[in-house]
Amino acid sequence: LIQLYMPLNFLGVLYREIRQSLTDIERLFRLLDEHREIQDAPDARPLERGPCTVRFEHVGFHYESRRQILSDVDFEIPAGNTLAVVGHSGSGKSTLARLLFRFYDVQQGCIRINGHPLKQLTQASLRAAIGIVPQDTVLFNDTIFYNIQYGRPTATRGEVIAAAHSAHLHGFIERLPDGYDTRVGERGLKLSGGEKQRVAIARALLKNPPILIFDEATSALDSKTEKAIQAELEAAAVGRTTLVIAHRLSTVMNADRILVLDGGHVVEQGRHRDLLERNGAYAQMWALQQQEAEVESITA
Ligand code: ADP
Ligand code: MG
Repeated sequence: LIQLYMPLNFLGVLYREIRQSLTDIERLFRLLDEHREIQDAPDARPLERGPCTVRFEHVGFHYESRRQILSDVDFEIPAGNTLAVVGHSGSGKSTLARLLFRFYDVQQGCIRINGHPLKQLTQASLRAAIGIVPQDTVLFNDTIFYNIQYGRPTATRGEVIAAAHSAHLHGFIERLPDGYDTRVGERGLKLSGGEKQRVAIARALLKNPPILIFDEATSALDSKTEKAIQAELEAAAVGRTTLVIAHRLSTVMNADRILVLDGGHVVEQGRHRDLLERNGAYAQMWALQQQEAEVESITA
């Protein structure tokens, strides 16, 4: 029986091993598949290096034709400025980020960088120019070092560690049994939502791109860590064109401009003070979050 059991057991291990390596490949193919419709135009040109002005021109978008997601969204982020987008869940905030990264093409209007419609730029140059901290970060089944270095594969060990420092991740990594060589992901150490988020932040900081997108980048962090990292993100945004999608309004007070999305429409646009004075949707959200913060501070 043992003779029969051993090879079977071995096969089981092998099978599991293969299946788990396949999940990465599968995910990759799914991603490729999902975005296969986006292809470089024959005359696509690389985006020039340097500062980027981002412009959404009367953008309309739907995933499925029955349901419009964004309507007549119109704004500009001048090079080096920070635009914050706030709005209820489902209002279309993450969709803005996906469109800027060109995971999808818009159906109405146009998105331009330095005047070039995205469709006329090579995707490689577009994606090289943008660093994203997404809502959900997927880690590779590899070391934590690899997962951070992925932001810029040519980065040195010192640069990777510096990025981890800025993302308040270095101390955590150093306490791991194998430090930076600890394997993470589905097959390794499972990181918490907040730790994964900090890996994504380290990646984006390491990439050092002219355009940054933070999509609720600190939502999984406790409010103390969030405050600390917030300062790092604001420092990273200096001199870059930044789109901040925020769940907590305290993180957008200093933005050059705030845009309030509701059901895919821009309902308000302005600076924090102006929007408070308007006493509209933003002011309401602000008042509500102030109350929540108070409750939090009492119960903490
Ligand atoms: P937010 O980030 O503001 O919460 P999203 O931009 O993620 O909102 O989503 C806006 C709307 O688009 C939601 O109603 C969501 O269900 C829908 N949506 C998002 N992704 C897809 C998709 N891939 N296919 C169809 N509908 C989608
Ligand atoms: Mg979202």
